Amino acid sequence: MENIRIVLVETSHGGNIGAVARAMKNMCLEELALVRPKQFLTEDTMARASGADDILHEASIHQSLDEAVADCTLVVGASARMRSVSWPQLNPRECAELVMQRSTQNKAALVFGRERTGLTNAELERCNYLVNIPANPDYSSLNLGMAVQVISYELMMRLQQGRKLVAEEREPAKAGDMQGLFRHLEQALEDIGFLDPRKSDKLMRRLKRLFYRAEPDLDELKILRGILSAAQGRKSARRE
Ligand code: SAH
Repeated sequence: MENIRIVLVETSHGGNIGAVARAMKNMCLEELALVRPKQFLTEDTMARASGADDILHEASIHQSLDEAVADCTLVVGASARMRSVSWPQLNPRECAELVMQRSTQNKAALVFGRERTGLTNAELERCNYLVNIPANPDYSSLNLGMAVQVISYELMMRLQQGRKLVAEEREPAKAGDMQGLFRHLEQALEDIGFLDPRKSDKLMRRLKRLFYRAEPDLDELKILRGILSAAQGRKSARRE
């Protein structure tokens, strides 16, 4: 998350900047860049930040969007309106996927526009991608703080998913391991009289689909094969 920067362009209300700081801190984001804010560090800013003051005090202030994103290799602009200009568009989930991937080595920026008028076409074209939060087509514009909240929540979800996979440290089963399981399963089902070898194809296809969907790891395959051996009544002589 350290390589992800939230950029706010010409924000009018200090209160919204505070709300953005709070949303960011809730979602483990730290880097805030402000392009020509109309107000900053007002009483309202501090009230809405609700303790996320560190993000406000460390925020950088810039004279242009170009300056705020100069060191970023990926720039994504958030827009409430699907413009007529065709530009690569993402939903918040796809955006999180891309930003998390690309920010492991390099800096990425998420750019949010003015409360009343959003981002200009020139600013949107400065972005590699646009992200749009699906909303009521007749009332699609979220409050700035809310928009930052939704986009950064998806980043957080993506981060958690990554952590879960790392924490489990599962050794994935290879195609050959799966074939070994299927041969063993077919034999075991025959041995216990469940499967008629002449009619095994359809059932085996369904079982294979089930096991592929479950994506078992190597340990889980060992357990399954242990069960099959036990059902066959012999632990050692597994027929491959
Ligand atoms: N009326 C403006 C919206 C301004 S809301 C317009 O039509 O563009 C302020 C900023 O919040 C927007 O510039 C955008 O960055 C973000 N935002 C609000 N609603 C959004 C949505 N549905 N999808 C993506 N970004 C949104």
